Amino acid sequence: MENVENRIGFCPNCNHELTVPANLTNFSCMYCGVGLTQNDLMSEASVFDAAALEDVNTGIAGCILDNKDLMKSFNRQEYTPSFEEYCEKYKPLFISLNECYTAAAPNEREDLKNNAVKAFMDGIAADVSAALKPNDAREQIR
Ligand SMILES: [Zn+2]
Repeated sequence: MENVENRIGFCPNCNHELTVPANLTNFSCMYCGVGLTQNDLMSEASVFDAAALEDVNTGIAGCILDNKDLMKSFNRQEYTPSFEEYCEKYKPLFISLNECYTAAAPNEREDLKNNAVKAFMDGIAADVSAALKPNDAREQIR
């Protein structure tokens, strides 16, 4: 006969849904193994804004690629105003990335960070490789 109620909650480390006997004080997450108590369980899964993250990953290489002219003014005479302009322009993108990161479960953050770095590096690599190819070679590939 079932006389112990189960409690459903979310692991604060990996975000998986857990069903735990309500009278169990200490237990481990069956997905990530982290030690938990009833107080640690979250009533809702943590969610980050996937569309905002997609926008970040789409635009992140642009902080270099779209600012080649502006970066020419990162010199001794114009550094302060031009760098301030640059920071203001990209502050929203990095605030958005940070919001996604902090809203994600800790176990999801490494992937989230690696994907942003990959999007950045892929964008730069594509630009460099396009610049290195002679025009005629580029046309032959197409
Ligand atoms: Zn877990």
